Order: sequence, then structure tokens, then C-alpha cells
Amino acid sequence: MIWPDALPTAAAPPGARVAFIGAGPGAADLITVRGAQRLAQAEVVLFDALTDPALQALAPRARWVDVGKRGFGHATGQAAINALLVQAAQAHARVVRLKGGDPSVFGRLEEEMAALQQAGIGYEVVPGVSAALAAAAGTQRPLTRRGAGRSVSLTTAMTHLGTLQATRTADTEVFYMAGRQLGALAAHLMEAGWPGSTPACVVSRAGWPDALTTDHTVATLADATTPHADRPAVVTVGAGAKPVQASPPAQDPCA
Ligand code: SAH
Repeated sequence: MIWPDALPTAAAPPGARVAFIGAGPGAADLITVRGAQRLAQAEVVLFDALTDPALQALAPRARWVDVGKRGFGHATGQAAINALLVQAAQAHARVVRLKGGDPSVFGRLEEEMAALQQAGIGYEVVPGVSAALAAAAGTQRPLTRRGAGRSVSLTTAMTHLGTLQATRTADTEVFYMAGRQLGALAAHLMEAGWPGSTPACVVSRAGWPDALTTDHTVATLADATTPHADRPAVVTVGAGAKPVQASPPAQDPCA
């Protein structure tokens, strides 16, 4: 592996034993160079189920530990991960906590940082490509549009209590964690004031070679349930969901 070494590494902040790294949404080459460089130095990597196994080639010497929540009970999962992270950092100077997408976006980063703080352990955060951004890139649909799309909101469809919520707070809203309840999301979106005819685009496994995109309106969003079943998906609603189209040439009044 040559490319991570080709650029100078920004040093980790003094005393940082843990690097939270965003792995990006899929293909291993979407991790940042800094993330790859930190991985190359890692002794232990705690990773989630969503990250690409091909990333393991970037940390061949490290012990890789799968802490994906599927392996833990729902309520105790996060506490067990926090404890494991603290233990690993007490035993090793270079620990990577690898998270899908960006660690700061729906990644339970706050809890894990707090656990490290409480144990007096230093850390740094290396950003990653969040699913909303990978979906925009993969579908070639800019999230902001001059004039029509001035604001973007990243929203989880599920509250921490497990209930579904939808909002209309931005010109473009990208919903995470809505995959299984798209029909209910559609109803909540319309209650929140989105017209049924608003464009809505669903992208599952964004950033992977088998990414799938389907186009809907808010009213027909439930049609996306079957094609995207059992795949991580984001739902983009509003201005950023529209495909880019060249405007038709102006009519020549003399023609
Ligand atoms: N930190 C991650 C989000 C974790 S929450 C990020 O920044 O992307 C998990 C949710 O992210 C999934 O339910 C799904 O809505 C979304 N997600 C994760 N990976 C995805 C992918 N490759 N394609 C589409 N959505 C994805």
C-alpha cells in the first residue's frame, strides 16, 4: 500500500491514544488519506458492521474487533462498546475506532468521547464521507442548488425512543435510518407540510459498486420499500432530490 504514505501525515494531537475515524460509506478508497495513515499505525481497530472488510488491508498489523451492534443486545450495546474502547486504550497507545460514514453523524460519538474523557484518555476525530454526501455524489445530484436549495438538513427518521418523525426545516432533507418505514415516513412528511408531489430519492448502499437509486415523490415513497429491503439507505427529499437537467435552449423568436 503506497498511497497513504505519499502525503505528509498531520500528527495526532499530543496524548491522543484513540482516533475516531470515518471510514466513509462503502468502498475502501473513500476513506481519507489521514484515516488510512492512522489505520496503518493502529494496534487495535474497533469497527462496526457497516465498514468495508477491504479496509483491513490498511491495518495489517492491528487486531480487528467487530463491535457492530448486531452482536450486542440493543440497550447494553453502547455501554459495552464504551467499556471495550476504554479497555483497549488503556492497553494500547494507538487505538482506532472506525465508524461508517462520518463519526459525527448519527455515530454515537458523544457517548464514546464521554467515556474516554471520564477515563482521562485523549482522542482525535478524523472525518469521513457521510452517507448523504455519498448518495449526492453517486446520483450526481448536488445537495444545494443555486436559488432553490439553500439549506440541507441531516435528520434521523427514528427518535432515540424508537418512534418515527419527519420534519420540514430545510430546502433539502436527508433522512437516515428510515429504510424499514418508508410508508410511515411519507405520511409524516406530508403532515410536516411537504406536498405529496415533492421529489424524493432513495439511495441504498451509496458508495458501493452495487448502490441502488430509485426516484419517487413524497406520496409514493413506500414503493421504495421492496427494492431497498435490508440495505442501508438514505432518503433525500426536496430540492436536492431532483436530477440535474440542462435547461432547454431559449426559444429563438425569429425561428
Ligand atoms: N455515521 C454514518 C451514519 C450511521 S447511522 C454516516 O455518516 O453515514 C446508519 C444509517 O446511515 C443507516 O440506517 C442508513 O440510513 C445510513 N447509511 C449508512 N451507510 C449507508 C450507505 N452506504 N448508503 C446509504 N445509507 C447509508
